[in-house]
Amino acid sequence: MRTQISKAMEELKGSIKGSILAADDPGYAEARQIWNAMIDRRPAVIVQCALADDVPPVIGSARENNLEISVRGAGHNIAGNALCENGITIDFSRMRKVRVDAGKKRAYVEPGATLADLDLAIQAHGLATPVGINSTTGIAGLTLGGGFGWLTRKYGMTIDNLISVDLITAEGKKLRVSETDNADLFWAVRGGGGNFGVVTQFEFRLFPVGPEIVAGLIVFPFNQAKQVLTRYRRFVDSAPEDLNVWAVLRKAPPLPFLPESVHGEEVVVLPIFYAGAVAEAEKLIAPLRSFGNALGEHIGPQPYVEWQKAFDPLLTSGARNYWKSHNFTELADGALDTIIEFAGKLPSPQCEIFIGLIAGAPNRVAPGAMAYGHRDAKFVLNVHGRWDEAKDDQTCIGWARDFFKASAPYASAGAYVNFMTEEESDRVAAAYGSNYERLVAIKRRYDPENVFHLNQNIKP
Ligand SMILES: Cc1cc2nc3c(=O)[nH]c(=O)nc-3n(C[C@H](O)[C@H](O)[C@H](O)COP(=O)(O)OP(=O)(O)OC[C@H]3O[C@@H](n4cnc5c(N)ncnc54)[C@H](O)[C@@H]3O)c2cc1C
Repeated sequence: MRTQISKAMEELKGSIKGSILAADDPGYAEARQIWNAMIDRRPAVIVQCALADDVPPVIGSARENNLEISVRGAGHNIAGNALCENGITIDFSRMRKVRVDAGKKRAYVEPGATLADLDLAIQAHGLATPVGINSTTGIAGLTLGGGFGWLTRKYGMTIDNLISVDLITAEGKKLRVSETDNADLFWAVRGGGGNFGVVTQFEFRLFPVGPEIVAGLIVFPFNQAKQVLTRYRRFVDSAPEDLNVWAVLRKAPPLPFLPESVHGEEVVVLPIFYAGAVAEAEKLIAPLRSFGNALGEHIGPQPYVEWQKAFDPLLTSGARNYWKSHNFTELADGALDTIIEFAGKLPSPQCEIFIGLIAGAPNRVAPGAMAYGHRDAKFVLNVHGRWDEAKDDQTCIGWARDFFKASAPYASAGAYVNFMTEEESDRVAAAYGSNYERLVAIKRRYDPENVFHLNQNIKP
């Protein structure tokens, strides 16, 4: 193995513009850190690409020398597949540029860009597109798995606004991939993850948003959880798509607008986002206050880019994380009871259960239109186990698994691949449902040897 690695490094030195890091090089230790501290993998070589043309030689050299390949966007994926053990990691952390064509409402995004990189560049023109809710997340992994966030009700999933990608195949071929070029691949990359090639550029459709929007939180006591969630369920059923409201059950962080006595106690939080005219927001938000006796609220106009960072302090890298997720077409009473039961026994101060609302534009796309097919899902539920010490692994993971099992009877079919852990490979076929066979056929065509297998793998 050592000779293969040295050979690959020698070959690459002459053929790429980026940096090649081996274990004893400065910068290696930092480059192998990813968001989830549960993952501790050591690639033999990390290639920090400087441009798209660096990618084909890396793929070629890795294949020639029988080395595993992993691809890293911003390293946020819970499963940790951004890193490989003893193989070559293609690391895009140096390729984060975003080019905007404001006239055409398009953004051209390099694969190492974070959501913050994208939002900052496009909001300079008063534009946005639906992405996730934590600004340090990578646009690459998020998009390839689907992508949803505050703007999803109105404008769809991230993939619903993907216009094209530039992709390098397992054979090192550079392809433009869109509705009109290599359409089968375009179908597959919109939800199929990193299975089909290495994306070196994403092109997105943009919409006028903000720059000022209205957003914030209302926090309710945990003993009113059933009432709050029942009213929430009724409210979101007819709320306009400009308005998005999620529900989070967790222990209260020490937020300045909450009484100190509440800090560290279980609460129900309703994060609220309104993308319409600021003057219209108050009358739409007002009914939410009557869901219970609010402990506090912090809502107001603010720059969209600031709201996109609002949850970053709760989701910093370096903690241990274990997630489980279900889709729901409706929140049955049993689902609410189960959520409340498990939120009443959170095993760490950082664990939470969140209900993300995606009802709206995503439901108007046909399930077979692209690889991501959960077009009946109105809610994405994520149980987020999060803690600091390895000694708590068993307790926190056990809690998340038990909750997942107990809430399964109320969930709809399928799963969101971006929320799946490394141990969920047996869920991949079910996650894609009726789109799976077509994905397998496309995988056979473009990657028959499964070169790109460090992902939620679709086996050829
Ligand atoms: C704190 C936090 C908040 C989140 N919030 C949301 C949210 O609101 N909405 C949502 O939809 N998701 C959310 N996610 C999930 C997120 O979408 C996934 O974790 C996603 O995979 C992260 O992308 P990344 O580029 O940072 O990950 P990475 O770990 O770098 O990449 C993930 C995988 O994508 C593939 N990949 C990455 N780059 C490329 C490329 N250029 N070409 C081909 N394949 C590639 C590889 O298989 C890689 O293993 C969140 C995750 C975290 C940790």
